[in-house]
Amino acid sequence: VELRLVDLSLPIYDRMPTYPVMPKTAITPHIGEQDLPFNLHQLVLCSHLGTHLDAPYHFLSDGLTVDKLDLRKCVGPAAVVDLSGKGPKEEIRPEDLYPYEEAIASCRRIILRTGWDKRFASDGYFSDHPAVTREACVWMLERRIVCLALDMPSTHVSEDAETHRLLLGPDAEVVLIEGLRGLDRLRGAQVVLMALPLAIEGCDGSPCRVVAIDGDVASLGASLNALALEDENSDLRGAT
Ligand SMILES: [Zn+2]
Repeated sequence: VELRLVDLSLPIYDRMPTYPVMPKTAITPHIGEQDLPFNLHQLVLCSHLGTHLDAPYHFLSDGLTVDKLDLRKCVGPAAVVDLSGKGPKEEIRPEDLYPYEEAIASCRRIILRTGWDKRFASDGYFSDHPAVTREACVWMLERRIVCLALDMPSTHVSEDAETHRLLLGPDAEVVLIEGLRGLDRLRGAQVVLMALPLAIEGCDGSPCRVVAIDGDVASLGASLNALALEDENSDLRGAT
């Protein structure tokens, strides 16, 4: 059985564009007080730069922060929904998802492929992308999804707050992945998605390296949906 690893992440670079209200990206060689015998860079990155994850705290002041997420939501089978016919600001409605209902209900993770990433760094990428409607969010939540991944920078152009609050709200706590790249390289209708954020304490989101395993992933996906958590008493930060 041939399995392929596909990188779905936008490259991160100095002055990489982000929303106008967000911090400007800067990746610069670190100039210390003395010459160092190694290379070192300083990174100034928005928590929602490029391919990234939204934690509930992004829109809900008492929501989970990115370091507290259940990472099992970020790793597992995902249904790939082809919406490549959607144009600028065009609505994504429940009807668009009906043909994928069985796969969505079993995977509980959804990748929406619109092809909008082809416009990255050109006009309109942040302002004119297709729009996941509130009705589509409700429909997905009724299928008990745990993760929604998009190749657009956000869910909606004018109703981003409403749609984010639905998905990130305390009843759902969906892991939202935005800014994916190159979903046309996935061949399977289902893949294994892996999208892990940095463990930044108290943060609302994080850039992610996102990959998919493509191929015959049915048994692998089923195993991953039954993952247990490690001993909750373990403390990765060690004694302080
Ligand atoms: Zn975001």
